[in-house]
Amino acid sequence: MNWTRRTVLIFLGFLCLGLTAQDNSVKITLIQMNDVYELLPLGNDRGGLARVATLRKQLEKENPNTYVFLAGDLISPSAVGTAKINGERLAGKQMIAAMNALGLDYMTFGNHEFDVDESQLLDRIAESKFHWISGNVYHRKMGHPFPGVAPRLIFNAGGKVNVGIFSLCLNQAQRDYVVYDNNLVQIARRDVKALREGGADIVIGFTHLSMAQDKMVGEEVAGIDLILGGHEHEAQSDTRYTPVFKADANAQTVYIHHLTYETATGNLNIDSKLKVIDGSIKDDPATLKVAKEWFDKAIKALGVDPNKAIVTPTEDLDGREASIRNGSTLLTRILADGMMEAGKAAKIQASIYNVGSIRVDDVLRKGTSLSEYDILRVLPFGGEHQWCEIRGDLLVKTLDQGLKNAGSGGYLQYDNITGSAGNWKLGGKSIKASSWYKITFSDYLLTGRETNLPYLKCEQGDCPGDSMKYGGTVGNIQEALVTGLKKAFP
Ligand SMILES: [Zn+2]
Repeated sequence: MNWTRRTVLIFLGFLCLGLTAQDNSVKITLIQMNDVYELLPLGNDRGGLARVATLRKQLEKENPNTYVFLAGDLISPSAVGTAKINGERLAGKQMIAAMNALGLDYMTFGNHEFDVDESQLLDRIAESKFHWISGNVYHRKMGHPFPGVAPRLIFNAGGKVNVGIFSLCLNQAQRDYVVYDNNLVQIARRDVKALREGGADIVIGFTHLSMAQDKMVGEEVAGIDLILGGHEHEAQSDTRYTPVFKADANAQTVYIHHLTYETATGNLNIDSKLKVIDGSIKDDPATLKVAKEWFDKAIKALGVDPNKAIVTPTEDLDGREASIRNGSTLLTRILADGMMEAGKAAKIQASIYNVGSIRVDDVLRKGTSLSEYDILRVLPFGGEHQWCEIRGDLLVKTLDQGLKNAGSGGYLQYDNITGSAGNWKLGGKSIKASSWYKITFSDYLLTGRETNLPYLKCEQGDCPGDSMKYGGTVGNIQEALVTGLKKAFP
């Protein structure tokens, strides 16, 4: 054998090895979004579903085994979703239409899917051209799975690899038509076992849980390759055990996961990158058309101007439910203060509102101007605030219950009231049981329908008990927010 021939043989040998390795490896691309309520880019020019659609097409061109996942929270909350068209609220119809155009493949429940009524949710699922998956959410009457929702799912990528998906959702939204199984670890174990036995080579946890819950599932359940999660609204990852990833809300970023699976060895390599969605990505015309049509129709119905800047905050305004349903933030204080300002003429002593009025579930970033549309994003239900005289003992009872309502929309926010259970002060002075106080309340609080507050009832002069007297309308609550914002950021 001469040198030349040996060199050629070695070269051929390498070539064969390369080909073999290539034949045995399958590449899969996953695009991950979570917590998406907005159709179009936000004030900071991040997000926009037409851009995500373009990204999907680009990645699909590179690798036909490309799949788009949305890890929960799509149907609600959004200002656009509250618009009434043909007498019916959109309630997420616009998001399903846009996701159908974008080419979403897999969706799981987030807590906000249950903000809407049962019939609305069933309609939204029926309108979807993508798969819904949930392993722990049950329909109270129809059982499990919800109609149109798979309990878990296996799909085949490239004719060679089976990818199994299981899904879990946290039990934050309590609705009479929804039942949760909270044994997250147990369900994950059951589903991973079923998926592996069903032939899954790769198992993906597709969840809408807190990061702590995702980590717990990832640590305690063997056999999960990757967790695509949501709920936190800010991009984060944890790769100590099973890797967990979450992107920023409203498709301001998406995670792109490049998976390489070796069929011979079962070895899986995952390369995950966070991708910013901004103006550097062109709009996909078909998706943009759908998104814009719904947005324009809704904006017209709502009668707001999304381009009219009202104020540019110089500090972040935290409106995330986890923050505002358990304490006050600058945003909640600004609204309470705006209500007080509006009540000056009526000599209001304090303002109180149910924090469920604030639905934005997001952080409004400093330096980004807020428009009329953003005011609507914060307070989509609008309404008035009205003043009443209330006796001190009922006021104390109400404030005590507000604290007990922590975690729910019935948690109370206020201005000029301080203290805690057993020690409430108004204007720095202890509240006296027999004294009367002039307070402006969000109108929903006066309906008697707020969580555990049936005794707080005083609508338009109709105050059944002897502890409240109706005063009058102070103003619109959205206007109160504008007043508060202009005062805070002159
Ligand atoms: Zn959520």
